[in-house]
Amino acid sequence: MSRLTGVGVSSGRASGPVARVADPLPEPPATPAPTDPTAEAERIRPAADAVAERLFQRAARVEGDAKAVLETTAAMAMDPALISQAEQQVTARSLPAPRAIFEAANGFADALRAAGGYMAERARDVQDVRDRIIAELHGVTPPGVPELERPSVLLARDLAPADTADLDPGLVLALVTEEGGPTSHTAILARALGIPAVVAVRGVLEAPDAVGAVVDGDSGEVEISGEEVAVQAAERAAAVEWNGIGATADGEPVKVIANVGSAADARAAADAGAQGIGLFRTEFCYLAADDEPSVETQRAAYREVLEPFAGKPVVVRTLDAGADKPLAFLDMGVEPNPALGVRGLRVAFDRPDLLDRQLAAIAGAAADSGAEVSVMAPMVATAAEAAWFAERVRAAGLPRAGVMIEIPAAALSAPEILAAVDFVSIGTNDLAQYVFAADRMAGALAELNDPWQPALLRLIAQVGEAGRELGKPVGVCGEAASDPQLAGVLAGLGATSLSMAGAAVPAVGAALAEHPMAAFRQAAEAALATSTPAEARKAAKSALAS
Ligand code: PEP
Ligand code: MG
Repeated sequence: MSRLTGVGVSSGRASGPVARVADPLPEPPATPAPTDPTAEAERIRPAADAVAERLFQRAARVEGDAKAVLETTAAMAMDPALISQAEQQVTARSLPAPRAIFEAANGFADALRAAGGYMAERARDVQDVRDRIIAELHGVTPPGVPELERPSVLLARDLAPADTADLDPGLVLALVTEEGGPTSHTAILARALGIPAVVAVRGVLEAPDAVGAVVDGDSGEVEISGEEVAVQAAERAAAVEWNGIGATADGEPVKVIANVGSAADARAAADAGAQGIGLFRTEFCYLAADDEPSVETQRAAYREVLEPFAGKPVVVRTLDAGADKPLAFLDMGVEPNPALGVRGLRVAFDRPDLLDRQLAAIAGAAADSGAEVSVMAPMVATAAEAAWFAERVRAAGLPRAGVMIEIPAAALSAPEILAAVDFVSIGTNDLAQYVFAADRMAGALAELNDPWQPALLRLIAQVGEAGRELGKPVGVCGEAASDPQLAGVLAGLGATSLSMAGAAVPAVGAALAEHPMAAFRQAAEAALATSTPAEARKAAKSALAS
């Protein structure tokens, strides 16, 4: 049994057998040339057959759509055209078998993409088959989340948003990653799904005989065992009593609203009592899309998310693609430093038509759903950018435009930015990463991304002050808002709404109702005067206790 410690990012304790998420495979090299190309070519068919056989076996155990998908993928793996093309690449060009299947499958995927529509959607399946056959040729586990046959604790280096988006909370007991920080998307999605998670667990992948694990998402402790560990799912947190009205004890309103990325999230947030949506991450609907979805497709997808909030406020964020959330259909190329590159609203400066189509779809979904829709842009740096965005939103017939404050320059220009838009919302996840020059995905830098960092709180205070002076709303929609102890401090710093994963809504609502606004202002002042996150927590706590 080995004990490791990381950063607990999603609450709860769970245990069970371990399932490893294999790392992505590197692109197979074109050298060295095989000494016997005929024998090398003959390795391809048995590998493809083995992949197909495993997929058929899985298909036999499930029903409905899942069965059809697995059978189609299995058939693809055995496609005679794919296999003979790969064999020819080996014999004619002396390529190693993994490289040959890589090139042949990519040729097929390109042709499918060029055909467009339904065919283009299959390109990703061909790539999946490609990676499975390459893994089989190398004798290693195929990349990505394995098909789980029993409830398991997932161990991974890190998880891509697309991997975590379709995790089955019924089968995933807990998530443990070697990388990642408290605001990485692994953490955000784990909280949304209510699965305990610990990130930045150094050395967890080095435990070669990990069979079972016990995970504590509160303390960040992980026990890895070489033997089976009994399955125990996390207990659902005891329901917190909250009257559903976002306000301090003396009745100062602070809206308690939710962050969502899908219709399922929106329904869960409505059930949890969220007063609206403060951040709809539209890019989460398109992580797997190979082509830009049509306006009609987008409109239908957005309507599904908005419908549970008919008559209530909903803030839809326009596409926030790039860096940790690449979108295949944007074809953004390779940047040396993507977090500082063309991401968020910056994509729209060169391609405003893309933004206009999204705004048209949002306007349509607003009309269809009856939600009170506002629109905001991610990654805005200057007041001029904010004004440019607001003009396009209004031209699309949408009544309210806002921007996120997640770049330090935007926080420092809050008065000018607020003059150009109707509201702002502080994205503390990115704001922290840019203020501290600390990648939010890097486990080793998790402490710098702690939302209680006094330097971050000081910037939030500046934005809150600008909002008060201009009489415009200032929301917080980063993960900071989901911490019930920090919620009152954020209100004291001037936040007029707090938006968080649906699961955190009742606890935050209840925490706000515990003290009057004057007490939260004092707690905020006390936290601002400290110099470490630990001191800030302590100072706020004792201010509220006095
Ligand atoms: C943020 O950066 O705080 C935020 C809410 O946006 P995202 O986490 O989607 O980058
Ligand atoms: Mg952000």
